[in-house]
Amino acid sequence: MSEEKSLNFLEEIIEHDIEMGVNNGRVHTRFPPEPNGYLHIGHATSICLNFGLAKKYNGKCNLRFDDTNPATEETEYVNSIKYDIQWLGFQWDNEFYASDYFEKLYEFAVTLINKGLAYVDDSTAEEIAAQKGSITTPGIDSKYRNRSIEENLLLFSEMRDGKYTDGEKVLRAKIDMAHPNLLFRDPLIYRIKHVHHHRTGNNWCIYPMYDFAHGQSDSIEEITHSICTLEFIHHRPLYDWFIEKLNIFPSHQYEFARRNMSFTVMSKRKLLQLVNDKHVTGWNDPRMPTISGMRRRGYPAAAIRMFCDTIGVAKRENIVDLGLLEFCVREHLNKTSNRVMAVLDPLKLVITNYPADKEELLELENNPENNNGFRQVAFSRELWIEREDFMENPPKKFFRLAIGTIVRLKGAYIIKCESVVKDDTGTITEVHCSYLPESKSGSDTSGLNVKGTIHWVSVAHAKTAEVRLYDRLFKVENPSSEEQDFKEYINPDALIILPNVYIEPDLAKAKVGEQFQFLRKGYFCLDEDSTETKLIFNRTATLKDTWEKEQKKG
Ligand code: ATP
Ligand code: MG
Repeated sequence: MSEEKSLNFLEEIIEHDIEMGVNNGRVHTRFPPEPNGYLHIGHATSICLNFGLAKKYNGKCNLRFDDTNPATEETEYVNSIKYDIQWLGFQWDNEFYASDYFEKLYEFAVTLINKGLAYVDDSTAEEIAAQKGSITTPGIDSKYRNRSIEENLLLFSEMRDGKYTDGEKVLRAKIDMAHPNLLFRDPLIYRIKHVHHHRTGNNWCIYPMYDFAHGQSDSIEEITHSICTLEFIHHRPLYDWFIEKLNIFPSHQYEFARRNMSFTVMSKRKLLQLVNDKHVTGWNDPRMPTISGMRRRGYPAAAIRMFCDTIGVAKRENIVDLGLLEFCVREHLNKTSNRVMAVLDPLKLVITNYPADKEELLELENNPENNNGFRQVAFSRELWIEREDFMENPPKKFFRLAIGTIVRLKGAYIIKCESVVKDDTGTITEVHCSYLPESKSGSDTSGLNVKGTIHWVSVAHAKTAEVRLYDRLFKVENPSSEEQDFKEYINPDALIILPNVYIEPDLAKAKVGEQFQFLRKGYFCLDEDSTETKLIFNRTATLKDTWEKEQKKG
């Protein structure tokens, strides 16, 4: 089965390292989310990559919560992240928290002070920013830069003890205020924040900065390949500098391009705005590009993994077409979901020559793609059909119902359309047809060749449901790059609610999350808002990509 796929650049690096015996050929990756929001499809690519590489090379992958920024982090997010990773089909080897290392990181900072490589600075944030210089001009030394080691040790321990207020002092690495890489101009490594931390409570009032926590955490866990997104490329020399000066396990950082996707936004900050401003119902709103939103929408985990594998890793940022993800979703659901019938926009059809008191149970195939057997569907004289399946003045090649035409009712009989009934306003309320008893599906002896097949639900047996039609969240391909605020581009039609849809009676037994193909209408799944008395189905995807066509129509 294995089709030779060429190695991506990370696999090349890893295979080279294994060959050279680096770390005795050991591969250990990590996925390091900050628990300040729910995971989105961009994170999924990073998850598939980190867990995937560990699996491929018989290595390990840690889950490490990068929780060094207490103000925005919450346990709710930690739990959702763990759930989402497992739902995607991955299991971490260890669960760690950067906050587990606060004591160790503090010791690392003390080590730097003792080596004359860090100092406590009393300058304000503005003063520090002003000292920084620019790409073309060197920075200026802080007047606190040459404090003695003893004084720095004392002040730093006082910072820890809570003697100072937020922002009163910081700890900076002492590197080079004229360094061409601005990150080396005495970067901040600790700040004072008197805030409660979701795990360490009020134990700490100083917190390490990203650059002083991330690499060291990798090193503590002996991570061999620390994979992050490209915006950290300039941080890599600093990552290496700390590891070298502290003389700790030499983890290495590698960068790949952040994944963006069309018709959505991906930063947690923006997603949080959508939630807070109630543009969506929550992080798991089926319109959201979050893993939880996609799960609720009905996207299979396997389809998301297939999408991540297909796009692979890149060295340059680009926007991935949402259509590709939808393609993967259809590929999976086509194989796995049972076909059922639901009428979204009902019109009554009466079969005039079918006895009023008769009903039949017809055998319909569940899914021809996977031979998933048959089910029985009740058929009777009065049926619901889609309003759009009848036309009074049909154009050429309209293979559905019009007066005088014939169609097949899915899994049932061939019918011929004879007349319509209208109400006072001229709206068609009923379509009257006759059926051919000898044309029953499976034992058709009519000899007729019928071009169109339409779906139906028996009026007497139908159950009702609410259907939520979802579409892309934004009207434009890249809402973040537009002139106005991204929220201006929200697609108002991204959710259309159909309150009264007729469904096959068996669908009343559906379980939350269960996926179906509503024949001719798309893929749907039962939403978690459903109750005993009210079923709600989410449209996961249409059967075909209709978006581009719609756009061209204008
Ligand atoms: P956001 O900007 O959406 O808030 P983030 O990078 O701050 O994302 P983290 O929780 O820090 O989110 O991310 C955890 C891991 O996921 C990091 O290693 C990060 O590089 C990766 N990641 C985040 N967003 C993407 C993306 N769009 N494409 C690929 N990887 C991503
Ligand atoms: Mg981040």
